[in-house]
Amino acid sequence: MLPKNAELIINMFNDAGYEAYAVGGYMRDKLLGRNSDDIDITTNALPEQTKSVFSGFSVLETGIKHGTVTILIDHTPYEVTTYRTDGEYTDSRHPDNVEFVRDVKTDLARRDFTMNAIAYSHRTGYLDFFGGFEDIKKKIIRTVGDPYKRFSEDALRILRALRFSSVLGFAIEENTQKAIFDLADNIALVAPERIFTELKKLLCGDNAYAVLKEYAAVLNRVIKLNGEVDNISKLPKDHSMRFAYVCGASVGESLRFLRADNQTKHICKMLVDSEPIPNDITDCRIYCSKLGREYSRIVFDYRKSLYNEDQSGICEFVLENDKCLSVSELDINGNDLMGICISGKNIRVVLNELLLCVLTDKIENKKESLLLKAKDIDIR
Ligand code: ATP
Ligand code: MG
Repeated sequence: MLPKNAELIINMFNDAGYEAYAVGGYMRDKLLGRNSDDIDITTNALPEQTKSVFSGFSVLETGIKHGTVTILIDHTPYEVTTYRTDGEYTDSRHPDNVEFVRDVKTDLARRDFTMNAIAYSHRTGYLDFFGGFEDIKKKIIRTVGDPYKRFSEDALRILRALRFSSVLGFAIEENTQKAIFDLADNIALVAPERIFTELKKLLCGDNAYAVLKEYAAVLNRVIKLNGEVDNISKLPKDHSMRFAYVCGASVGESLRFLRADNQTKHICKMLVDSEPIPNDITDCRIYCSKLGREYSRIVFDYRKSLYNEDQSGICEFVLENDKCLSVSELDINGNDLMGICISGKNIRVVLNELLLCVLTDKIENKKESLLLKAKDIDIR
């Protein structure tokens, strides 16, 4: 059931007189027959005690304030957290403090959903105090305890519920769902980076369409769904493509609010602004040249998936076979142009002009022809 290194960790705790269990997403995914490589372990050993049990290993203090250390075995990280309960939440984001506790049930009770509150050890078997097994069997997401209380403590849980519903295809239990709609405003309090992380996973889930439809009113608190939804599952599971599709023209604004990385912002803008893929080979070269090789493929995939464009594969052909789609791929450079007395800003102007000539088959991409042509270009 558990990978051998997780068993080793649990054995070492037990042999030193402590309790330890695998818990959280790993157990949930295992019961669902899904692969998961990140294993969380929960123990009654305090962080300092964990460090001494694993003194022969590399132990990183990754979240020592919250009782978490990471043990590295064979380059794989295992997060070990001391049983704890969360103190008061005054900001709907972070517990004001955490308190270490003695028994595993209290630790499991602080976890968000019943399916995430199952503990297991190969020595003692399963611990399932909150009906996690039953809910997994019925494919239901249900908070541990009163949903209003749990979502008021930490609004990130609302987004996690929607994300799990999308990724696992689980329904959200009635009361839990009611609380989500009633407390939806709170999700705007969650740190933008964390909202972004959850939304990326949500949009790439198998069940994204249903979740976007059902929970649009909730999601609209943090993302402007001004694009489309209906064909989302035709797109590859790529978060940029999916953000561009569901936000449409509002994608820039939404991504800025979510403090998304520049790469995502750039790709999304390109996708939203993209024009139909040309059917003519020359037009297609110019099209690819404007986007750049790297991004052309993303735009093709996007438009092919959604609109069935480029059935004939011309663009694929251009990317595979055309050796010159950018100024840097010309068989000539700025130094060559300086050699024929072209300088300053004119260098770029001439290189661009030469590229256009190559793309439109007016000249070959060979230094002699390019130099000859360069002398001819009228620079104003
Ligand atoms: P995945 O790793 O697939 O994203 P996960 O459920 O393992 O999903 P983690 O963030 O790795 O998510 O958290 C591990 C466990 O910690 C969860 O399964 C849950 O028991 C608990 N947990 C995580 N975030 C919260 C939260 N916001 N509130 C309560 N419990 C949480
Ligand atoms: Mg996890």
